[in-house]
Amino acid sequence: MTKTVLISGGGIAGPALAYWLRRQGFTPTIVELAPSPRPGGQTVDIRGTSKVVAERMGLMPAIKRAQLHERGLAYVRADGRTAAEMSVELLDGAGAIADIEILRGDLAGILHDATSNDIEYLYGDSIAALDQDATGVDVTFTSGTQLRFDLVVGADGVHSRVRKLAFGPEEDFVHHLGGYTSFFTVESPEPLNHWMKIYSAPGGRWVGLRPDHDERYAKALLSFRSPLLNYDRHDVDALKALLVRRFTGLGWHTGHILAALPDADDFYFDSTSRVVVPDWSRGRVVLVGDAGYCGSPLAGHGTALSLVGAYVLAGELAAADGDHVRAFPSYQAEMQAYVDQRMELPPGGIKMAMPMTALGIRFRDASTRLMTSRLLAPALARMAAAVPDRIELKDCSVQWRDPVGVTAEETE
Ligand SMILES: Cc1cc2nc3c(=O)[nH]c(=O)nc-3n(C[C@H](O)[C@H](O)[C@H](O)COP(=O)(O)OP(=O)(O)OC[C@H]3O[C@@H](n4cnc5c(N)ncnc54)[C@H](O)[C@@H]3O)c2cc1C
Repeated sequence: MTKTVLISGGGIAGPALAYWLRRQGFTPTIVELAPSPRPGGQTVDIRGTSKVVAERMGLMPAIKRAQLHERGLAYVRADGRTAAEMSVELLDGAGAIADIEILRGDLAGILHDATSNDIEYLYGDSIAALDQDATGVDVTFTSGTQLRFDLVVGADGVHSRVRKLAFGPEEDFVHHLGGYTSFFTVESPEPLNHWMKIYSAPGGRWVGLRPDHDERYAKALLSFRSPLLNYDRHDVDALKALLVRRFTGLGWHTGHILAALPDADDFYFDSTSRVVVPDWSRGRVVLVGDAGYCGSPLAGHGTALSLVGAYVLAGELAAADGDHVRAFPSYQAEMQAYVDQRMELPPGGIKMAMPMTALGIRFRDASTRLMTSRLLAPALARMAAAVPDRIELKDCSVQWRDPVGVTAEETE
């Protein structure tokens, strides 16, 4: 039976997969490029099927303790006045802000805590080369270490190294949707009262603040529309300078947020991209999470797809006794309809969300006010609520073994 699994990426999908594989008798190892667990990001949602997976992992008590109680999303003008708002209650948690929102860094920390005792993490390293044959995969790391594994999983996000090595160049799978987003922590320039606030400026630019646990701080967001840019993803100083050039001179709290940039140590910057990979496996190598399927932050279900994908992949490997030839196609067959559903962009996509002109911004605000008016809000809530996830989760705990003395049921 397949035993050793190398997982590239210690974000959300990687640790979730390692958690379930370990409970099946596999020996997963995680290699993560960053030197330690990566902090950062704003809030992500736990809802629908991903909530069921989190419950089966026994993580809900920790998630609920770390939960942020957001009240809604408000679009504000340059002088800070509210132009339109959408409360959580309005769509009964089915809108842009779900009933369970957790900081992405907190969720990553919870997953790390749930795995770090019995799973080996190799921090500050990365896969340099993969060479698979009929019985395993030889892996060379950038550190020079060479190891052999039965299987290799790419859980290394939108710019996956595993996908590049085993499937082909990034351009074949990553489709730029015309924008870039950055997140980092700042001192809060005003009490947010649990509201996420977004100021839109002409040129398709967003300046946002989202609540943190400590109300003295906020998670800042700088986002802008742009065709594909040529830049070094790892040159943080150059990325910060790029943001200063794009945002200097804008209203609301832009100056305060830009002033915090040089010292931001949880800085995150990425393109708004979709990832579409027709076949998620190549021999003994398979993809999970953003590396294999990602609708972009605009679609907004990346964390849910990662948690569910990890659960289904581990379940299929266990059901096939580690036979990847059977397990990998079953994993994709079980996930595909759900992935297609949750990769869909909201109507109007980036153009509607981030208008280029002052007139476009006024139009978006007016449509938001109309949709959330007493007349239309109930119909909108019904429409949003009437879309269950297109996946039936198998109850893997029935067939699963108990190699580390903890059953799935006991962890709940
Ligand atoms: C710091 C950070 C903040 C984020 N903030 C938000 C947010 O606020 N809102 C939102 O919707 N989404 C955010 N995301 C994206 C979100 O986490 C994913 O869309 C989703 O959770 C899917 O998770 P994933 O594990 O597939 O990918 P990710 O969460 O992106 O994790 C991938 C992991 O792989 C690591 N990695 C990358 N390349 C290599 C390599 N060559 N070798 C080894 N490891 C590698 C990365 O450091 C990262 O830890 C953020 C991602 C990161 C990394």
